[in-house]
Amino acid sequence: MSVIQIKDKRFKTFIPEEKILQEVARVAGEINRDLKDCNPLFLSVLNGSFMFTADLMKHLEIPCEISFVKLASYEGTSSSGKVKELVGLNESIEGRTVVIVEDIVDTGLTMQRLLETLRARNPKDIRIATLLVKPDKLKVDLDIHYVAMNIPNDFIVGYGLDYDGLGRNYRDIYTVIE
Ligand code: 5GP
Repeated sequence: MSVIQIKDKRFKTFIPEEKILQEVARVAGEINRDLKDCNPLFLSVLNGSFMFTADLMKHLEIPCEISFVKLASYEGTSSSGKVKELVGLNESIEGRTVVIVEDIVDTGLTMQRLLETLRARNPKDIRIATLLVKPDKLKVDLDIHYVAMNIPNDFIVGYGLDYDGLGRNYRDIYTVIE
């Protein structure tokens, strides 16, 4: 186990890279099986999902496209509930199968808002693929199709996820030491 310091907080190794990649490959396998005939459009929600997106895409063997969007709602270590507008979606999703690629679903409010925004553009189907879910924090009823890992409520960083902009570069996932 290793301990890292980011600003005022210390974090310890929680999920090693090997385990993350194993679960990401499993999720990719499920997507390969389910969506092979529909040329899905993956919408990677930046910034947090960039590593997950890259590793997921490497395992996809079906015709598919990808686009990158932003919908930021988070400051510090607690979800604010505020959501900003969706930016970066320039193509039509009408009639398409869309797969949202997220880093983490916490309360689910960000995802709920994103779903509403995307549904207004008349896609055929929307699926959610997320690296992490905090099941005990979920406040809304969401149908999450692909989940790499469920985790407890603690604040985590690494593998794309940040604390105040820092820590996205770590290959393992770390959890805060209280
Ligand atoms: P929600 O709207 O589901 O409460 O929050 C979703 C967003 O909050 C995620 O996309 C992510 O940016 C942020 N978030 C939630 N939990 C954590 C966490 O433990 N660590 C980090 N770095 N971000 C988190």
